[in-house]
This record gives sequence, structure tokens and C-alpha cells, in this order.
Amino acid sequence: MNILPGQIEAFDKNLKNHNINITRNVINSLQINIGKKCNQTCTHCHMDAGPARTEEMQKETMDRIIYLLKNSGNISTVDITGGAPELNENFPYLISKLHELNINIIDRCNLSVLFEKGQENTPSLLAQNNVAIIASLPCYTEENVDLQRGQNTYRKSISALKLLNKIGYGQEDSGLILNLVYNPGGACLPAEQGTLELAYKEELKKQYGIVFNHLYTITNMPINRFAHTLKQNNEYEAYYNLLYDSFNPRAAESIMCKNQLSVAWDGEIFDCDFNQALEIPIHTGRKTVWNIDSFNEVCSEISFSNHCYGCTAGYGSSCLGRLA
Ligand code: SF4
Ligand code: SF4
Repeated sequence: MNILPGQIEAFDKNLKNHNINITRNVINSLQINIGKKCNQTCTHCHMDAGPARTEEMQKETMDRIIYLLKNSGNISTVDITGGAPELNENFPYLISKLHELNINIIDRCNLSVLFEKGQENTPSLLAQNNVAIIASLPCYTEENVDLQRGQNTYRKSISALKLLNKIGYGQEDSGLILNLVYNPGGACLPAEQGTLELAYKEELKKQYGIVFNHLYTITNMPINRFAHTLKQNNEYEAYYNLLYDSFNPRAAESIMCKNQLSVAWDGEIFDCDFNQALEIPIHTGRKTVWNIDSFNEVCSEISFSNHCYGCTAGYGSSCLGRLA
């Protein structure tokens, strides 16, 4: 019998029961969500992104982030996400400014966006600025990808991967990193990352000659559009129970918010992209990039809630894959 999600042991209390004390240590990674517009409307999207969304980060906010990065010595990676971040017209500007900072840049790319109007130069922009690409491909079969991400997404994704391979991405010794992301098609946890990576590598190479660096497995968060899908299928409670029952203390010790912050399109600061999607402010209350002079000023306590079980179930989950 499933426990109602609201009656599950609170995540922070569960951490205490396991003698796990988590605060934010050194911030070495910043995730920037530069807009909610996307050319896709995937069933698992925690941002509720889609073609009709209009929220997008302005140049002034990007400039402020660059200023704060200069003042926050330890941040070595900036992870750009959305929506489809490439659809923000200031995306090339942000990339060039970050490149000047000599920082590791990641673009979370849905692949199909590379065939949208106006995106013709995006692959070369990314390559010239040595941007690592993390691309979603939730399966190596057409049926599963199109079911989750929309009709024809698979074919476009395969064409995009071929294009990226052609300019060096994912090729040995090119220095251009191409990592893929897997997330389950339904209400279950991801399989083991290493095993799945081998299967992806074998299938994509055999079928299309495609190569890539690593595969990250990510657990679907039971929030926003995915929560809606779960409720429609009468699976919401069972999925929450699965996450709770699969709590892994070792994964909890490594959750990504320990070393990361997230900035929204309007400059508000959050503990992570999921808290941003749920509009759960940081522990000291709402703060934006305009209220601080360095990211190091942001409080070390983290605003946990029960969706956090999505990060600690099974092998654990983060924007860079499994945790334990
Ligand atoms: S999951 Fe990614 S590609 Fe899909 S709708 Fe959301 S932002 Fe767009
Ligand atoms: S959902 Fe966010 S705040 Fe919660 S554990 Fe995961 S990264 Fe941390």
C-alpha cells in the first residue's frame, strides 16, 4: 500500500535519521537557466518548457552573472540550460563572455534545436568556444524517443549527433566533449549507468557510426509536467514511494546542490534547477544576482523538500548522472 507523498518522512528529517548533515560547501559549478522557450514539449520536462514560453534572460542579467563569476573565485564550470538555451538570442553573447573567463562551459542541448531556423551557426559557435555538449537522448530506439520527446525527434537527434561528430564532437583526442543523457521513459529508476553507456555506444556505433564520450543517467523528477503525466496514469503515489523506498545514503552524501547554485532567467538564485522549477527560494529567502556581490555570499543551508528523494534514489541522480 502506497503512502501519500505528503505523508512520506520529510527529506531533511530522513537525512538526520541517517546522520547525514548536508550544507553547501565550496561552490564550483553554476547552472544558468536562460529561458523556458523550447522547440519540444517533452512529457518528463520539469521546467514545463515549450514553444509558447516567453521567459528569457536579458543581456544585463548575463553581464551581472559574468561580474559575479569574476568575484567568486572557485567556480570552474558554468552549465547553461533552459528550455532550449540556444533559442535565447543572447546565447552567442553569453558563450563569448564566458569563454573570455576561461571557464568550462556546458550547453544542455536537446539536439533537434540545431535544425531550427537561425541555428545554422550554433554547432560551429560551440566548437570554436570549446563548449562541452550534454545532449538528451533517452533511448537508442526511435519509438521510445518519439514517445517521450515528440514525433520525429529521434531522426533529428540522430542527424544532429552525426553533424556534431563531423565537426569533431565526441571524437577521440578532439577535445570537444559530447555527453548524452538518458532518463527513463516511465515511472521507474534508471538502469546502471556504465552498463547502459556500453549498450548506447554499441548500438549508436553499429546503426549510425555515431560516437560520444559518456552517458549520464538521470532520474525523472515527480514535479511539473512529469508529475502531471504520472497523475494521469495513476502512478504518482507509487513513483513517490519508489523514490522514498530507494533512498540511498551514499547518493545523499554527494547531491549536486552541495557544490552548485542555479540562476533563473530573471536572475533569481536557487539551490538547483528543480527548486527553481518549483519556485522554492534559497534558505534565507528570495535573492537575485542584483542582491549579492559574489556567489560565495549565498547561504550554505539548502532548501530541501520531498522531491529531493529524486536525487537520492537508487544510484542517485544529478545533472552529471549517477552519484553512487
Ligand atoms: S526536457 Fe528539455 S527538450 Fe524537453 S521540453 Fe524540457 S527543456 Fe525542452
Ligand atoms: S532536488 Fe535540488 S535541493 Fe533537492 S537534493 Fe536535489 S539538487 Fe539538492
